[in-house]
Amino acid sequence: MFLRELRQSVTTLKGAGPSVAEKLARLGIFSLADLLLHYPRDYDDRTVFVPLLDSIKVGRAHTIVTVLSQEWFGYGRMRTLKLLVEDQSGVAALLCFNRPFLEQSLPVGARALVTGKFQFRRGEIQSSSFEAERLGDGEALPRGLIPLYAATDSLPQGSIRRLLKEALREGGTRVEDEIPPPLREARGLLHKGEALLGIHAPDSVATLNLARESLIYEELFYFQLAVARRAFSRRRDRVQRRPGPGILRQRLLERLPFALTPDQEKSAAEIIADMALPHPMGRLLQGDVGSGKTLVAFLACLEAIEAGGQAALMAPTELLARQHGETAARLLEPLGIRLAFLSGNIDDAARPPLLAALKAGEVDLVLGTHALFSDEVKYKNLRLAVVDEQHRFGVLQRLALGRKGPLPDLLMMTATPIPRTLALTVFGDLAVSTIKTMPPGRKPIETHLARAGNETKVYDYVRRLLAAGRQAYFVYPLIGQSERLELKNAEAMYEKLAREIYPDFKLGLIHSRLKEEDKRATMTAFSKGEIQVLVATSVVEVGVDVPNAVAMVVEHAERFGLAALHQLRGRVGRGQDQSYCFLVYGEPLTEDGKARLKALLGTTDGFLLAEEDLRIRGPGEIAGTAQSGSLRLTIADPARDLAVLEKARADAFALVEADPGLLSPEGSLVREVLSRANPFGEAPAGRG
Ligand code: ADP
Ligand code: MG
Repeated sequence: MFLRELRQSVTTLKGAGPSVAEKLARLGIFSLADLLLHYPRDYDDRTVFVPLLDSIKVGRAHTIVTVLSQEWFGYGRMRTLKLLVEDQSGVAALLCFNRPFLEQSLPVGARALVTGKFQFRRGEIQSSSFEAERLGDGEALPRGLIPLYAATDSLPQGSIRRLLKEALREGGTRVEDEIPPPLREARGLLHKGEALLGIHAPDSVATLNLARESLIYEELFYFQLAVARRAFSRRRDRVQRRPGPGILRQRLLERLPFALTPDQEKSAAEIIADMALPHPMGRLLQGDVGSGKTLVAFLACLEAIEAGGQAALMAPTELLARQHGETAARLLEPLGIRLAFLSGNIDDAARPPLLAALKAGEVDLVLGTHALFSDEVKYKNLRLAVVDEQHRFGVLQRLALGRKGPLPDLLMMTATPIPRTLALTVFGDLAVSTIKTMPPGRKPIETHLARAGNETKVYDYVRRLLAAGRQAYFVYPLIGQSERLELKNAEAMYEKLAREIYPDFKLGLIHSRLKEEDKRATMTAFSKGEIQVLVATSVVEVGVDVPNAVAMVVEHAERFGLAALHQLRGRVGRGQDQSYCFLVYGEPLTEDGKARLKALLGTTDGFLLAEEDLRIRGPGEIAGTAQSGSLRLTIADPARDLAVLEKARADAFALVEADPGLLSPEGSLVREVLSRANPFGEAPAGRG
């Protein structure tokens, strides 16, 4: 059966009239292909026979019965059929609520296969939740794994099973193969048709497993083909390179009061080497909070500028973008680099000259928010785009779309270590550089837990730090009063801390609902030390860098995720002084909450914490992250199926490497379904 036929409406199946079709539509099933791809969510193991008598203990029965009698009880709409049935172990009652038709299909004397939940009640073994199927004389007990589908009230399991049986009989098992045969053989996987049969009607657990693996492989294989296409389309895009002599970089390094850490040096070298290749770079720079990624990014920018191009550095928030702007002004402007700043908040008068300067090539490095890549922004010669702390790959697409001329080099930076799963999927087309070592002289941050109620001890401790000239953050889960949650909030605590706790110090308040210029003013005052205590929400989570701030107090720490807490803690410990993180938690703690706090207490290593986070949240979560955006997988879970993912990836990349022309987008069922789900949003995977 080929794609054309699979696109046929389900109504071409026997037993699927308009009303059934409508019910199927509610499950998202329109075509034969949709139906065949409606994989079971689980299986009922009927390989084991459970007679009626045993069902009292086990809770369920799976047996062959003979119908002894039929009787009706109740009146009117409540009138219900009751069947007495018997197997070799005993007698039980089947209460056929809403199933009057069983009177006909299971007449007295009929043999039937019965499966269901049973219990002992009112002196008899009974069930109202069972499936019964009439058997011919001498027909044996069908055993096997019975698929359980996502179903609806009006379209029960049985109907879906029947429809699928029909669809498989109609040719579903002859469906065109999706995996190139040499790969299928090399990986020992099933033909598509066999795999569909194996998943919908497995004859053994072994078949089921192989069928699952085949389908998972297939899905991940096509997924990785798309990733490979993106990676190779970058490589196909030839660009003229004229590497600079590295003088600007040299001058920046000479101006620094410190030397690069070995990992900074290594990462910078990897990036610079990439930038000399005749195709655009796609690289991810991961390094824990405070590991010094910004500097590495600046070195890359200088390389681009020296080669006669422009560079753009994008941050996820205005706050962070401003901070990068200030660092750039301090470090790069003295080298003669022409800087500009662009965000959604640049006012209308300032905008046109700025855009004109970018277009004319009068700006070397522009820093800002996602506004940098909006349509109205035209670059004369964008050589490098740096994206800081941005985990959604929508950005990548905008970059690809917004460009005119050759693709710029792309450097993504993240302080959230990318678990292997994500590195292979969402970021699967990027090379990775990692900064593991911290700049020297950093003292490990001391982390302390305090139960809510004991926070005055924390406040007192922080007061001593403030009196010694240091600064502190106080972070709350909410901006203001919440009607639903009895939680401390930033606004109220700002008042309280200012009036009652630290009346002799200067405090500032910062959260996302404030105006940009107010936020900026507060941030500037805090980094200049004019404010000692910054009361905030998690807006300070990302990237903020004030080395004199040595205390991070998070109240209601139990309400924050592990990654967020790690990021918050990373706001301190950036200078030479001993820093502290106080996590004040409310009770009762959930198991997960307890595990998170314990993990934080145990290590400051972001890579370890990312793994721990994965463990606490479970693999589904990561797949969820991978899928946010637009990737949708129907059977594969990249986190759970990591081993298959790696095989599929190797195969897909090898295939594209050998024959990039092979990637014609039409023809495949999976590809079709995936593209309907739009795995890469609007991004053109490859051009031409
Ligand atoms: P992140 O990787 O979290 O973005 P930053 O780039 O903000 O880290 O750097 C954190 C701090 O470390 C900054 O104050 C920066 O000046 C400082 N820093 C960066 N590299 C070094 C180094 N090699 N030695 C000492 N301090 C460094
Ligand atoms: Mg940073």
